Amino acid sequence: MTTNAILTAESLELMPVRQPSSSTRTPEAAQRRSDASRDHSNDDPRWKAVMARDVARDGEFVFAVSSTGVYCRPSCAARRPRRENVQFFLHPEQAERAGYRACLRCRPKSISGNSRSDSVKAICRFIEQHLDEPLTLGRLGKEFHQSPFHLQRRFKQVLGITPRAYADSCRLRLLKRNLQAGDSVTRAMYDAGYGSSSRLYEKTASQLGMTPDKYRRGAIAATIRYTCADSPLGRMLIAATDRGICSIQFARTDGELLEGLKHEFPFASRKLDDGGLQSWVSALLRHMRGKDLDASSSLSLPLDIRATAFQRRVWTYLQSIPFGATRSYSEVARAIGRPRAVRAVARACATNPVAVAIPCHRVVRQDGSMSGYRWGVERKQALLAMEKES
Ligand SMILES: [Zn+2]
Repeated sequence: MTTNAILTAESLELMPVRQPSSSTRTPEAAQRRSDASRDHSNDDPRWKAVMARDVARDGEFVFAVSSTGVYCRPSCAARRPRRENVQFFLHPEQAERAGYRACLRCRPKSISGNSRSDSVKAICRFIEQHLDEPLTLGRLGKEFHQSPFHLQRRFKQVLGITPRAYADSCRLRLLKRNLQAGDSVTRAMYDAGYGSSSRLYEKTASQLGMTPDKYRRGAIAATIRYTCADSPLGRMLIAATDRGICSIQFARTDGELLEGLKHEFPFASRKLDDGGLQSWVSALLRHMRGKDLDASSSLSLPLDIRATAFQRRVWTYLQSIPFGATRSYSEVARAIGRPRAVRAVARACATNPVAVAIPCHRVVRQDGSMSGYRWGVERKQALLAMEKES
């Protein structure tokens, strides 16, 4: 018992049952042996995991290599050691107490414990510390020794969003804080890890619901009036400033709609105004059903939306697509004179703040199939079906 007295509960749990405990052994020797199935079985599942560089076992144990004095996580990309030189430990600390150093390549300590969420936490911390660098999945994969595919999948399983979306949200949070603190826009952008300012404007204007400058001025004492109504696509919200409609959204419940509005216009004061917005609601519903289409079959409601130059070009073009017709993303890109900007077109569609009024639902894949819609593919399908029928 004198030997075991200084072993922690953690290290005890990895003592193989068959290990005879001898009071003559030093604690260190006990630990070196503890992991270590003496027979160095090739059938040990841990060894199989090491041979397979199994990312899924990362965090569950580490393996130490006596010939190099280094310990690694199972997925380490380094050359596989000989079986007889390998010992297993449950925790990095135990390997270190036994005299091993952490591998610099796979950094086995950055995953501790054995839960997935720990590894995801480590990735989060890494992202937070590298917001000012382009963080591709490939780069993260290298850093954490996981295939980009697996890394993304596990990350999404734990957090529900992709690493890229996580990075975006970190930048945005930081930017908001910097702007609220009164930093200049350039400074705030730079410090939040946004690259060139044009890219920032593209992104943040849509994410903030306004330009960063406007956000900074807190300008947003503006009053936004809104109303919710039934529509063929579920509950619909129309919100407007004094100058025109600033938001048209669909959701299942009014609660969701209001939450979204709050998120998009955090500083605005929001006022319910069913009566004042009724005529726009009716116009929109009639249009969705294909009623009273004018010669150009387009819907002309006054809009008050912020857009980058590129977004404005895309959105203006979308408004020229006739009721019932569709275009592919690349057709839109060609039509606005930016044939290679297909993905940017898709992004502009995805950030459309006013459903139906800017008919981004009329943009479909090349082969005519649906593709994404900010308010759900089912709604896009339903809208297009309604347009076909009328
Ligand atoms: Zn390693």
